[in-house]
Amino acid sequence: MIRAIELRKSYGNLAAVDGISFEVQRGEILGFLGPNGAGKSTTMRMLTGYIEPSSGQAMVAGFDLATEPKAAKRKIGYLPESAASYPAMTVLEYLHFCAELRGIVEPARQAAVQAAMEKTQLFSAANKTIATLSKGYRQRVGFAQALVHDPPVLILDEPTDGLDPNQKHEVRQLIRQMAQDKAILLSTHILEEAEAVCDRVLVIHRGRICASGTPAELLTRSSLYQAVEFRPLRPLSEAEQAQLKGLEGAKELVISEQPGLWRLLPQPGANLLSAVTRLLSELGQGPEEIYLLKGRMDEVFRNLTAQEAP
Ligand code: ADP
Repeated sequence: MIRAIELRKSYGNLAAVDGISFEVQRGEILGFLGPNGAGKSTTMRMLTGYIEPSSGQAMVAGFDLATEPKAAKRKIGYLPESAASYPAMTVLEYLHFCAELRGIVEPARQAAVQAAMEKTQLFSAANKTIATLSKGYRQRVGFAQALVHDPPVLILDEPTDGLDPNQKHEVRQLIRQMAQDKAILLSTHILEEAEAVCDRVLVIHRGRICASGTPAELLTRSSLYQAVEFRPLRPLSEAEQAQLKGLEGAKELVISEQPGLWRLLPQPGANLLSAVTRLLSELGQGPEEIYLLKGRMDEVFRNLTAQEAP
């Protein structure tokens, strides 16, 4: 449903987007993850037809944005980073206005607005003016305008930015519901969001894709992937530390950020959980707590994108 082929956008000497290719299928949520300035918004603006690429091709639902922009744009719902707002309008007025801009005429318009309000649970706010809404509700209005023409493709730029944790949770649920029959591309710099919402993630850095995969696949790049974290009953003696380090498949024994908590990092592919549990028990060291870690997205992200752009 979405296809980017070697997309590039330059501003003077700066390659804001430097040859990005990917696809998004129906039913899939693809996340663009990258630090500020990585080129996420610029890519999304090219895919929505707001700006023209310097080179490359953007296709939506089989239509090329360069040669068939009208047909392509009809298939897209876009939630920009800072949505244009009409603070004096009520929600209902605004959504009717958006539907009209999309060329939807009565009586279909009434039904389209109702459907968009239902999907975003906006009925209770229908007659409130936009200026009086909470940020979370304003974001729902943004979603409703993106959905009003029932597009098969949604492009969402930082959809939960600035929301509180409860509002973020609600918006993420909304996105998951909408994904059932749509292709969704969303950008975020929030790692937990990529983990929680996306089926697949592209990590963008300096205008290029530097890693891609499911969140679980990306986590395997973390040094803490499959590490065993444990709290022995007493401080570990040097001899006990040496025994733990000597376990087959062990790579490194480190103290974690929390006092009394240790981590045994594995060689790639090794699973140390049962061996550590057994050894600690043999040593009369409990353990008081023991966990298998799944890796940390922040570490993966930092390793991939730590070099700041000049
Ligand atoms: P992101 O959305 O990942 O934060 P952007 O796509 O907004 O990143 O920006 C990528 C790079 O392109 C940044 O260095 C930004 O300063 C630059 N850039 C974006 N838009 C313009 C523009 N209209 N003119 C000049 N530079 C721009």
